[in-house]
Amino acid sequence: MQNVDYKRARHFEVDLSEFRYILDIDKERMIAKVKPLVNMGQVSRATVPLDVAPAVVAELDDLTVGGLINGYGIEGSSHIYGLFSDTVVAYEIVLADGEVVRATKDNDYKDLFYAIPWSQGTLGILVSAEIKLIPIKEYMKLTYKPVVGNLQELGQAYADSFAPRYGDQDNLEKVPDFVEGMIYTATEGVFMTGRYTSKEVTKKKGNVINNVG
Ligand SMILES: Cc1cc2nc3c(=O)[nH]c(=O)nc-3n(C[C@H](O)[C@H](O)[C@H](O)COP(=O)(O)OP(=O)(O)OC[C@H]3O[C@@H](n4cnc5c(N)ncnc54)[C@H](O)[C@@H]3O)c2cc1C
Repeated sequence: MQNVDYKRARHFEVDLSEFRYILDIDKERMIAKVKPLVNMGQVSRATVPLDVAPAVVAELDDLTVGGLINGYGIEGSSHIYGLFSDTVVAYEIVLADGEVVRATKDNDYKDLFYAIPWSQGTLGILVSAEIKLIPIKEYMKLTYKPVVGNLQELGQAYADSFAPRYGDQDNLEKVPDFVEGMIYTATEGVFMTGRYTSKEVTKKKGNVINNVG
């Protein structure tokens, strides 16, 4: 067996416990500036009452902005906005020599901007991120589509649920705000699409009310 002591000897922890605050929610620029330990629950509770939300909100409340950027973050709106890290417009990073830099896609640190996602903290310590916000409504209308078929048919039904055919892929009228799929057996699944909707629609008879917050 390889001796892995070198990993233990070089284990290096940085206490980021103070880095857990939302610094700014700018509805004009549609950007939230947050510290890396801000988690999904915290950011949702602060933004949803303002009718905005991060473009990609990972499902578990405890997942942090720093972890979703340096690790990996994806969710039901990623068919439109990409990975969590694709929604970041600027990173503030402490480099190995202690210098603090702000990296954006077109400044002197653009190489860092593109290298930070999935870097697992190997390039520096993220101390803040500016993330894109989108306008939202208070409620979500969910549509469940059960599908029975072979693997190819299940795959096609999943693709069809969020990517309409015949050149409509960029038509947001035809693309749902959210998509999620669940496969029960080799031949059975259900695909769920969600659209933000108003309180008035949810009040109509037969609709089940689910508040976004
Ligand atoms: C049960 C479960 C459910 C999940 N569900 C989802 C989901 O719905 N959607 C989704 O997208 N993902 C999901 N994930 C995956 C999760 O998003 C990733 O594992 C994510 O990287 C974890 O984030 P974290 O906040 O726990 O960060 P950590 O695990 O603490 O960190 C992840 C990486 O980022 C580095 N890092 C963290 N903060 C900083 C910083 N400030 N500076 C530099 N480096 C840093 C860490 O060193 C580590 O390498 C799930 C994971 C689990 C265990």
